[in-house]
Amino acid sequence: MERASPRLFYDFTLSRLSELVVAEGEKPYRARQLFEWVYKKRVRDPELMSDVSKSYRERLKEAFSFALPEVAARQEARDGTVKFLLRMGDGSLVETVLMRYDYGNVACVSSEVGCSMGCAFCASGLLKKTRGLSSGEMVGQCLVIDDFLHQGNERLSHVVVMGTGEPFDNYDAVMDFVRIINDDRALGIGARHITVSTCGIIEKIRRYGKEGLQINLAISLHASNEKTRRLLMPIARGYSMDDLISACHQYVEDSGRRLTFEYILIDGINDSDENARELASLLKGLLCYVNLIPLNPVKEKPFARSKRARRFADLLLSRGVKTTIRKEFGTDIDAACGQLRVKYGGGNQR
Ligand code: SAH
Repeated sequence: MERASPRLFYDFTLSRLSELVVAEGEKPYRARQLFEWVYKKRVRDPELMSDVSKSYRERLKEAFSFALPEVAARQEARDGTVKFLLRMGDGSLVETVLMRYDYGNVACVSSEVGCSMGCAFCASGLLKKTRGLSSGEMVGQCLVIDDFLHQGNERLSHVVVMGTGEPFDNYDAVMDFVRIINDDRALGIGARHITVSTCGIIEKIRRYGKEGLQINLAISLHASNEKTRRLLMPIARGYSMDDLISACHQYVEDSGRRLTFEYILIDGINDSDENARELASLLKGLLCYVNLIPLNPVKEKPFARSKRARRFADLLLSRGVKTTIRKEFGTDIDAACGQLRVKYGGGNQR
């Protein structure tokens, strides 16, 4: 292994690790062996990798960091939701949430430190983006949760990239991340159990559809017309709703997959009968679901939760739009996007 400063082991896909190992004169099986130790046996100290020679163990220690993010704070809700505030190697603080659905254990992973998208209803954007997270830092979030679950003989089964940050603003790292957690020799999370959520960066939606992956895509739409979307989401000023919807059609064509629209219902802003009708006609003919999200009130923001979720859902359903209302988690802790981190004053502090 080369003597540059140690690289984060979890940044590596198996194929890139194999290339590195081979370039340094080792047999390619070494990479699989390391994956086995780290991801399957949960051993992250080369000293304990008993079938690795002593000299190679020394080289591993120099070449790689196997450090997981450190748990700076943890909150557990009565419904089993666990929110982790994690400290990355450089001191940045990041939120990761474990949610327990009846179908499995879901990690909600952050993709950036802070967020610059500036959505009007979101707490994450209260702290601007300082940097993107590396693929390994996202893998680290999953490992912290999977290790936590392992103590109770459970495992992580699903991952949503819906924490702080805009995944498509950090595209390459997010794609490496999903490849690593999807790999059977690593965490083996099924592609259909992974969802990436975007506020609507059109060129990346088009690219994602052509990746040939079975990973789910969710689009944060939150509005049935241009005017409301611009009011709520600054990204809409750069990308029109028509272009967004046409990129979604292209995505379905390229990937053959149904996509999900997330729609936070906000009292008096986007929850009228007219909005439901508009939304149904906007999505006509598109292979999709709508996931209606109860607003998580953020005290710094002026919005209130809609009381019309059932009615709104019924209007969509009656127009043939597949619609669900999202279950809520962790209402007794600071589970709304970004709130725990805001409470701790952001990142870069030790
Ligand atoms: N930037 C990406 C992923 C992170 S946000 C995106 O925009 O999709 C993940 C989801 O949480 C988005 O649908 C976002 O709009 C939603 N969200 C943000 N703030 C919220 C709040 N206060 N209540 C409910 N959902 C919220």
